[in-house]
Amino acid sequence: MDALAAGQRAVTARRVLTMLPGAAPLDDAAVVLAGRRVLAVGPRRDVLRGFAGPVADHGDAVLVPGLVNAHGHLELAGLRGRASAPAGFSAWAAWLVAQDLSPPSPAVLARAVAEMAATGTGATIDVGSRAGAQVAAALAGAGLAGLVCHEAFGWKKTNRPAVPAALDAAAPPHGLLAAAASGHALYSTSPENLRRARDACRARGAPFCLHLAEHAEETELLATGAGPLAALLAGRVLPRGYVPPGRSPVAEAVAQGLLGPDVLAVHAVALDAADRRLLAASGAAVCLCPRSNARIGVGRADAPALLAAGVPLCLGTDSLASNDDLDLWNEVRALWAAFPDFPPNAVLEALTATPGRLLGRGLGRLAPGAAGGVAVVPPDLAERFYP
Ligand SMILES: [Zn+2]
Repeated sequence: MDALAAGQRAVTARRVLTMLPGAAPLDDAAVVLAGRRVLAVGPRRDVLRGFAGPVADHGDAVLVPGLVNAHGHLELAGLRGRASAPAGFSAWAAWLVAQDLSPPSPAVLARAVAEMAATGTGATIDVGSRAGAQVAAALAGAGLAGLVCHEAFGWKKTNRPAVPAALDAAAPPHGLLAAAASGHALYSTSPENLRRARDACRARGAPFCLHLAEHAEETELLATGAGPLAALLAGRVLPRGYVPPGRSPVAEAVAQGLLGPDVLAVHAVALDAADRRLLAASGAAVCLCPRSNARIGVGRADAPALLAAGVPLCLGTDSLASNDDLDLWNEVRALWAAFPDFPPNAVLEALTATPGRLLGRGLGRLAPGAAGGVAVVPPDLAERFYP
């Protein structure tokens, strides 16, 4: 079968960064793909010898592995354009629960997923509790890989499976797009329910995601049992007679046995140096969501300090309830606006190889057999990747 008949296409550019360990940049390079499956990557002359399919040349652009959006909630895609002005987490959460949170229509989901795909995302880790099967169908429809996680929330004991059967059916456990569980947060979900979700992820070989240290209100609630978040959650989410653990969110996550190299702690805004050392020692990765944090008004994660502490980093858009779009490059622009000297290679690791390691399946790398496709670095960011 020739390339055209097999649906193969090639992309070429002045530079390709494969993100393979120790690999040098490939200059004047080409990538051959079938859908998002990488068939070949290397010097243009070698890779395209005898290739008869269509070739799209990106000129001076830099090509990188398809990006991994390591944290989102597509079930909130219907809230696009409605996010409230930054007023802190409790104010945002109160706004959110007053919205219509019924699952978005297939058209709304398809638009959100198409935006991700069009801006270079090849895989995602999506979290939700109301529309997992629909989200999985939308992602599969656009050929995106990754995880759709059913989020444990609340303190009630439950016998329900950590991953609903409908989600498992829509994203079978060992597919390129797989179902898993996740935990909401230490203040919203009981230790038992978090452990069940973590165990379900372990059994599936999937990373366990947890919102952690997103804001100072969380720190205050865990330390003292008081503050605006306690006021919001008392009688609704927090159990009667809630006793705060009296330590930081990171220390409490360690105490509950929730951290490890297969864990993605999302946000990590409200940390001190001791928390960063605990995170680094645990091997857990952190997903930075700079625009979501700004939109909610919780401050910003100290990305350089996390990097210096040795914490593996990922990047995520979070949801359209706290962000304007699902374009991961805008997360990069926000990160560099806050930290202009943050190293470009660390940014690329966060967009590709680190979440790729968590997800497996050859995601986050450009090599034959990899499944996440290729992304083009936008022109305003590309020069950062030419040393
Ligand atoms: Zn989230």
